[in-house]
Amino acid sequence: MTSPVSDSPLALRYTALTDVGLRRSNNQDSGYASPHLLLLADGMGGAAAGDLASSEAVTIIRSVDDGSTDHQGGVDALDHLADVVNAANQRLGDLIEADPAVEGMGTTVEAMLWDGEKFAVAHLGDSRAYRLRGNRLTQLSADHTFVQSLVDEGRITPEEARHHPHRSLLLRAMLGRDDFEADYSWLQPQLGDRYLLCSDGLSDMVEDDAIARALGAESIDVAATELVRLALEGGGADNVTVVIGEMVDASTLEQESDLACADGQPQLVGAAAESPQPRRGAAVDVHDSTARFAVDPEELRYAPREPSRWRLARWIIAVVVLLALLGGGAWYAYQWSQDQYFVSESDGTVAIYRGVDANLPFVTLKHLESETDIQVDDLSSFQQSQISDGIEATDLADAEQIVRELRDDAAPAPSATPTPTVPVTPTVPAPTETVVP
Ligand code: CA
Repeated sequence: MTSPVSDSPLALRYTALTDVGLRRSNNQDSGYASPHLLLLADGMGGAAAGDLASSEAVTIIRSVDDGSTDHQGGVDALDHLADVVNAANQRLGDLIEADPAVEGMGTTVEAMLWDGEKFAVAHLGDSRAYRLRGNRLTQLSADHTFVQSLVDEGRITPEEARHHPHRSLLLRAMLGRDDFEADYSWLQPQLGDRYLLCSDGLSDMVEDDAIARALGAESIDVAATELVRLALEGGGADNVTVVIGEMVDASTLEQESDLACADGQPQLVGAAAESPQPRRGAAVDVHDSTARFAVDPEELRYAPREPSRWRLARWIIAVVVLLALLGGGAWYAYQWSQDQYFVSESDGTVAIYRGVDANLPFVTLKHLESETDIQVDDLSSFQQSQISDGIEATDLADAEQIVRELRDDAAPAPSATPTPTVPVTPTVPAPTETVVP
């Protein structure tokens, strides 16, 4: 299909839509769309405030939408975008420094800033940018994931990547640290182009050809609704957010009174629309099973290092036992400590222990209850760090349940699983294209 040619300036129609999905209790995605900015952030960190991370990032990055970027002598859009992305990262760092309970939170960033002639684009993480031009869908962004690095090296196919046990492991994200690195680029649109920013709640659930068909719907509002519907139909395992822009002739922009963007007002959706507050000291509850052991792989990849309250708790228990010993209640205190269970490592395999993983001088408080054949090396790096710290159980049955969950998640690990946040040299593969039949 040849691209329509127009002498009139282009303008942006836009829409943003999100859904919490079918399996999650809160929405950690944030989206924003306006006449000059398309923006999406997929928060990470599970119990450690992923919604806060994406909300804060969007709140700061959307400040770039101040009308100052103009290709005719205004502020350079790419410089302006990089400045606010850096500011957002700094903000996350400040929040984490102020409250260690939210350490491990972070977010992806996908942003397209319109300067009246072209887009400045920022990309970080595994949220995606697609372009539909005619009937051809092109993925514009390369996922900053472990499996994408395997695809780039030719070790697995893109189809194998879709089903890889470590497919959600991120190599780059915004975590409030100094070593973060986003991809920046310019993008020249054409009249009729549609651009889609989406969280992995869409791209994991829906194949590219179905995305292409839905994105080509009669209007962008219908397209957004259809894409979210497809994600829910595909399982809705994660929050799903879509932000869509369409390049139209500026002189016809006013004629679209039935579209959500007809009022020209920005649209804000997801966590950023809820304004989550920093939750000092309350983000992790050791009795909350999702905080204790996040079986959801989405949360595992999103929490490179969860603050270990259990490590603190077991030392408190040990001190209580010590004080009881000194106070004469030794036998009762010891018996009480032996009603505790935790899951940890024994000779490279997962094992259940009775007692408390903190030994006092001359007193052993833990005993091996049972061993398993689950290799610690087969677990994700996050799970390995949890095992290393010890995963607290309420009783033996709970400990056995934790072992079952670990067994379900255990998969033969790649020989060198990188830690989730180590920057790698970006390798940009040829854009993948899907043509609607
Ligand atoms: Ca997600």
